[in-house]
Amino acid sequence: MEPIRVAVLGSTGSIGRQTLDVIRQLPGVFRAVGLTAGSNADALADQVSLVKPTFAYSEKTSDRLRDAMSETGTRWLSPTEIATVSGIDVVMVGTAGAAGLIPTISAISAGRPVALANKEVLVMAGHLVRRALAGRDLLRPVDSEHSAIWQCLWGEDGHEIRRILLTASGGAFRDLDSAALHDVTSEQALNHPTWNMGRKITVDSATLMNKGMETIEAMWLFDVPMEKVEVVMHRESIVHSLVEFGDGSVKAQLGLPDMRLPIQCALAFPDRIAQAPADRLDLPALGTLNFGRPDIGRFPCLRLARQAGDRGGTYPAVMAAADEVAVDRFLREEIRFIDIASVVEKVMDKHDSEADPELDAVLAADGWARRFAATVRVGAAV
Ligand code: MG
Repeated sequence: MEPIRVAVLGSTGSIGRQTLDVIRQLPGVFRAVGLTAGSNADALADQVSLVKPTFAYSEKTSDRLRDAMSETGTRWLSPTEIATVSGIDVVMVGTAGAAGLIPTISAISAGRPVALANKEVLVMAGHLVRRALAGRDLLRPVDSEHSAIWQCLWGEDGHEIRRILLTASGGAFRDLDSAALHDVTSEQALNHPTWNMGRKITVDSATLMNKGMETIEAMWLFDVPMEKVEVVMHRESIVHSLVEFGDGSVKAQLGLPDMRLPIQCALAFPDRIAQAPADRLDLPALGTLNFGRPDIGRFPCLRLARQAGDRGGTYPAVMAAADEVAVDRFLREEIRFIDIASVVEKVMDKHDSEADPELDAVLAADGWARRFAATVRVGAAV
């Protein structure tokens, strides 16, 4: 059988590097034929030399990247062109933020499967992605929770989903009380207890904004209303999520917290490859798994995200944009950790949402929210 030809958008990021690792472990099964990066041109140059893709692209370029591309005969093509060019079987969208939006919709519109690791695509424009899908089975979730739900639903076509139980580790500050959250530093926020991920998503895990966004994504991916998606705290990150069916049966997917397994599932679908890309689970060695309810009082971002998902329109895009700016302000030590939620709330309160927005309206709302979130004042000086 010919290898599955994969384009990796965001190949120098956390998901992109792990995708290339999965591909490297299975050279007869997968081949990376397109790589794109943002600002990290030299890291992309190394990947181009190693992988020798047909296509590559970087927002910034460098002498090393130009040399690597000419030595390997790699052609320069934009992410959206790579998403739709012939000779690619699946597009891994591992870029963060709004950058993944247009390539995702373009790939789907062209009938090409997308392995989606980017959160913002569905949060900002879930309705547009669903419209582009037009009922076709082209979207394969990569996020561990959504991959778990997706795998639980294999073979369950037509069966009623009573509830989706989205598990949450609770992030870096799960054991701190409200008062202690006033003084936490960015360094502490970046220290995730179970997952090793990029900076933005690690802070989003500490605020539970990440879980809020995943709730919105689950609505669009699995076509369920917000009230059917519940968050369950699960500190070990072993049960990646669960689905309860009409008869009360609950299915779960388990594994060690390692993104390479959901990545491999998404690239190989509908096959399941008989080789583990990461360590195997040893339940007796783990002993105990814990579950509990989320504390919305300590983590208001979860409430804000659910509100945005419920209201729909341009609210989710505005929430996601405000959060991205707020997290950046926190990492630059301009605002406190607890101010992230205040920035998001103020921006959402000021927003006039548009119902059923087209892409340009979504992007306009995103731009407005970014500008407003960058200057909105929060947190009286202590
Ligand atoms: Mg996740």
